[in-house]
Amino acid sequence: MKTALAFAALATLPCAPLAALPPPADAPPIAVKAARLLDVKSGRYVDRAVVVVRGEVIEAVGTEVPAGARVIDLGDRTLLPGLIDTHTHVLLQGDATQAEYEEQILKEYPAHRVARAVRALKIALEHGFTGMRDLETEGASYDDVALRDAVNEKVIPGPRLQVAGPALSTTGTYPILHFRPDWKFPVGVQTCDGADGCRRAVREQLSYGTDWVKVYANTGGLHTTPDGYIDSPPNWTREELAAVVSEAHARGSKVAAHATSDTGARIAVEAGVDSIEHGDSIRPELAREMARKGIFLSPTLTVTTYVAEPRAKEGRRIWAEIPKSHARSIANCRRAGVRIAFGTDAGGFPWTEINQAREFEHEVRVGMSPLEAVRSATTVAAELLGLGGKIGVVEKGAWADLVAVPGDPLKDVAVLSRVDFVMKAGEVVRAPVP
Ligand SMILES: [Zn+2]
Repeated sequence: MKTALAFAALATLPCAPLAALPPPADAPPIAVKAARLLDVKSGRYVDRAVVVVRGEVIEAVGTEVPAGARVIDLGDRTLLPGLIDTHTHVLLQGDATQAEYEEQILKEYPAHRVARAVRALKIALEHGFTGMRDLETEGASYDDVALRDAVNEKVIPGPRLQVAGPALSTTGTYPILHFRPDWKFPVGVQTCDGADGCRRAVREQLSYGTDWVKVYANTGGLHTTPDGYIDSPPNWTREELAAVVSEAHARGSKVAAHATSDTGARIAVEAGVDSIEHGDSIRPELAREMARKGIFLSPTLTVTTYVAEPRAKEGRRIWAEIPKSHARSIANCRRAGVRIAFGTDAGGFPWTEINQAREFEHEVRVGMSPLEAVRSATTVAAELLGLGGKIGVVEKGAWADLVAVPGDPLKDVAVLSRVDFVMKAGEVVRAPVP
């Protein structure tokens, strides 16, 4: 299990001087106490909960403080598993308009992009996100691989990461586009064409240490259909996309497909990708097919809401129509039993302006129950990442990733934007000010 290794490798990497020393085997356990713990699997609260942590792992969950334990008393708070965002871009700092995107891709120095990504990782962790799947670097090469490894080595603070490197798309389908043709401009993806060329691209990408392959199933030419959904031409032939998916799967990797149109989602589902990103246009029949094939949806409602107005204002009016089709598509997926994993597209909106936990409120706004929303960012997200039982749960044997909020998230998910205690791998990242 390659990705599990990437997450778990911190203890064995040759970087000991920078890493905190592991606690000695006889170190006292930590007992984290709070008024209640949300058991996300059953949806029930455990009152006066005590979570016992030894090293990086949860040793016990109950109501007793073991003798000799170091106690962290969080008072009248709710404990939950560390949160997981399955769609982010730490190397991007908001691209609501084309100009904002071009500024970052064409002008920003790579080291400056990395510096801002380091800040994004710290922000995410302090907001309670102890796990993230970062889905493409937007012209920043494999810097996400390096950031993931730096987090694992404890050089910088950040969530556990699974990364994708540059996304894949076909020639002429992804910006930078339409600049003078006699000059060469960078493109925000790696382009590949033809089944053989795309197999080669997947092999090359995985050789650099990525965990996921991301493809743009569709991009340009978005338009509304007579029945109120969104369509566009496909970016790929069937053969190309099938080659990407089979090559990635053969090497133990998974595929995430950006799919914002009916055609985009259809070709991605047919090719057998593992997750549909955004999913702005999924009719009931396709939702049933996704459920049958076990394909997840990562909806990213925060970004859909954030970019609608600025993009419509710069002349791309379709973006003002997308939120309606998006909400319908999510309802179709819920009805069909598609597993919905919390995803925000943070980086598509600035890390410094919006807490990615706002997605919980959007999820509830489109019809999900508060418990479904919490599960999307814990148990369901963990399954998508192949780490069910290790993250997204507070139970014996799971990694000690915990957050606490003042208030009751099942009454009001907005409290999840007010995380004030974060523990990752048994280390306290953030504690409430007394
Ligand atoms: Zn994205």
